[in-house]
Amino acid sequence: MNQEKIGKFIASCRKEQGFTQTVLAEKLGITDRAVSKWETGRNLPDAAIMPELCGLLNIQLSELFRGERMTTEAHQKAFDALLLEMKQQEEAANRRILQLEKVLVCMTIAVSLTMILGGCYLAKDHLALGIALLTFGAAVVFAVCFVGVKIEHDTGYYECPECGERYIPTMKAVVMALHRGTARKMTCPFCGKCAYHQKVLAR
Ligand SMILES: [Zn+2]
Repeated sequence: MNQEKIGKFIASCRKEQGFTQTVLAEKLGITDRAVSKWETGRNLPDAAIMPELCGLLNIQLSELFRGERMTTEAHQKAFDALLLEMKQQEEAANRRILQLEKVLVCMTIAVSLTMILGGCYLAKDHLALGIALLTFGAAVVFAVCFVGVKIEHDTGYYECPECGERYIPTMKAVVMALHRGTARKMTCPFCGKCAYHQKVLAR
């Protein structure tokens, strides 16, 4: 942020509104020395006071930060850039969750399969213990698959190839659906067509 530019901008907006430094200071409940410090670029207004200051100067917060008026087009551009950044952050976060999910599911299934095999082997000599181990292993596989599907459901969206809409399906739809990689065969709530809907990480 260019403090000096912001200071000059505050001074020019204040004059446009016909306020002296003292009048602006009184309206904000601060000293005129504080206003003078902003305008000479020695200080920035407190974040807490900024919304009220912008209101009095009839400017947007984004204009105060840039130290200049922005056209509607420039505002729209800044807003679009912010939206894009948020979308990219959401995608990155969702990608990390899904990667972690895959690793955990694979690891747990490997451990559980070992338990199941161990259970089968043990069952020859120690039937009760073998069956217990086998049952426990199977229960863990089942639980982990369910948690995996739940994480997949909760992360990101599914995209309909027919109408291009992105949506969050019900948990039931995801569990019941046939899947091919990260695509699931579901009925689109928008166009009603049944197709393989691809997992996407952001709307
Ligand atoms: Zn559709």
